[in-house]
Amino acid sequence: MDSKKNIFTTIGITMFIMLLAMIINITLNLRDFGFDSAKTKAQLIAQNVKNGLTAHMVNGIMNNREFYINQTKELDNIDDLWIVRSKTVEKQYGEGTQSAKDDIDKKVLSTGKAVEFVEENFLGHSSYRITIPYKAEATKSINCLSCHEAKENDTLGVISIIITMDDLKQTSTKIIFYTSAISFLLVLVIMLFVRRLMVPYLSIFGSIKLVMQKANKGDYSGRIENINSGEAKEVAHWINEHMSKLQNSLVTIEDKIDIFLTAHKKEDVIDPIVDVQNTVTRLADIYRFRKTIEHDENIEEVYKRFASVLIDKFSLDNFNFIEADTTNKKTEIVYINQELLCDPLSKGCRADRTNTIIDSCQFSKVCDKFKSDKFYLCIPYSISNDLDFIVSIVSDTEEEHERVRSVLPFIQDYVDTAKPEVVSKKLMQILERNAQTDPLTGLYNRKYLENFIERTLYEGQYKNVPCGVMMVDIDFFKLINDNYGHDIGDIAIKTIANTLIDVVGESDVVIRFGGEEFITIITDCTEERLIKIAEDIRIAFSQQQIQANSETFSKTVSIGVSLFPNTGKDFWKYVKQSDIAMYEAKQTGRNKVVRFTDSMK
Ligand code: GH3
Ligand code: MG
Ligand code: MG
Repeated sequence: MDSKKNIFTTIGITMFIMLLAMIINITLNLRDFGFDSAKTKAQLIAQNVKNGLTAHMVNGIMNNREFYINQTKELDNIDDLWIVRSKTVEKQYGEGTQSAKDDIDKKVLSTGKAVEFVEENFLGHSSYRITIPYKAEATKSINCLSCHEAKENDTLGVISIIITMDDLKQTSTKIIFYTSAISFLLVLVIMLFVRRLMVPYLSIFGSIKLVMQKANKGDYSGRIENINSGEAKEVAHWINEHMSKLQNSLVTIEDKIDIFLTAHKKEDVIDPIVDVQNTVTRLADIYRFRKTIEHDENIEEVYKRFASVLIDKFSLDNFNFIEADTTNKKTEIVYINQELLCDPLSKGCRADRTNTIIDSCQFSKVCDKFKSDKFYLCIPYSISNDLDFIVSIVSDTEEEHERVRSVLPFIQDYVDTAKPEVVSKKLMQILERNAQTDPLTGLYNRKYLENFIERTLYEGQYKNVPCGVMMVDIDFFKLINDNYGHDIGDIAIKTIANTLIDVVGESDVVIRFGGEEFITIITDCTEERLIKIAEDIRIAFSQQQIQANSETFSKTVSIGVSLFPNTGKDFWKYVKQSDIAMYEAKQTGRNKVVRFTDSMK
């Protein structure tokens, strides 16, 4: 394990450096101590020799000084010792036994200052040399000036002493060796102790690293094993417990999420936590969508909301929604975003009929209702027993088509969550439509007209577009009721209703306004066209044969028309005008179309 090795190597190197520093420190201190003691010894001997020579001089046995010097040389650790006379002394007493041996002797003789130096040899012989001047002194006990012809402080001679340092070196080496050995053993013991103390923690650290590495890749099955001592065992236990809880929770969450989301797919998400996070975000989005559509006013708003989800969340822009009434086999396009490239109204929608996803890549021209070379996916969703909802998505490129295919499961979640709302809003729509529809003819009634004016004429697509309004009333209708009965009267009403539907265009509106009175709004109209349509209606109805028991009869209508610019909110004014015109038609012979003129007011 790397970290384990690293830690012990670091501790080992640190201890070794400390040990080395300690040994160097001891060595330097011992060396200093050796020099100091050699110096002290040399100074002591020099002083002693000086005193001895003075004593020889005072006692007049100066000639025997050699013996004394040789005896001194014999002392332990003295390699060499010699005395050199100064020129002054040589002049007074003659040459000594030793003349200046080297430059050091000469330098001390001339300067009167002691010189010392060490000859250090790591493996061989080491020595300390000091050359000290003897100065002319005049003290109470001894007065050099009484014998020497010299001034006070003149250099009378020098003594050079070479002291061997081998003994000291040997002793120092021993000390260093034993200290090093003991310290090394101590370091070893400390290392073993530290190791024993740290191994469980380092092992648990290594195991945690492996477990976390696995977890980071989305695998929470890793556990810390083989940690059997003290606190580390406790830590391992808690981490393992925590990992088990996490793993179990993730499995549970994953299972439960499947209840909420049909499109819970996670192939491209490796880490279950990331998957859970994504899924919760999706659930929150879907929940928000559901809450929002609950408060939407009608099914059209729900479809609009769903369209905004496709645009914003799935970046789709070319799609349509189709409603298929499975009971009445009626198909209706309920939302167009961008363009409508198919014609599902004639002979129904293939996706609805087959109840399978229609994919343009399945087969060339798989759906003959689709009038483009673009790619398309039409997905049927069953909303209720009698209502299917088809989402048709068009793509310009194959890549985009592929992407749309990949988001279908996510779109499904939105459709699933919207189902109850769509069903209830659809029901509301049917009720509302029923309330706006005349049960006898199936035409819209006056209530619808009010909505239509607001929604389509005043605010919607025909705002500011000239439109025609016509009032249609059957001539002498009462007679039918009187002659053939109410039921035949009803048939006559249905006949005029069908005639009106047949003659007017798809964007025009036919309203049963009262008993046998109808209002027709001809959108985007000119006066000529308005009169032409009114004439067509009049002629077509007059040609209808109405069956009354064993006989047939025909009837006529009187029609009043009025053209309005639709630039203000004054629709009813023109209804009134067409009513006046219709009255005029009645007054002037019936079975005719009369256009309103200002003179009729
Ligand atoms: P005019 O040529 O002046 O219009 O004469 P008319 O007989 O048609 O007179 P009017 O338009 O006033 O007649 C309306 C009659 O239609 C009155 C009512 O009894 C009858 N009626 C109203 N609603 C219905 C209905 O739903 N079915 C039947 N059969 N008759 C209805
Ligand atoms: Mg009438
Ligand atoms: Mg009438």
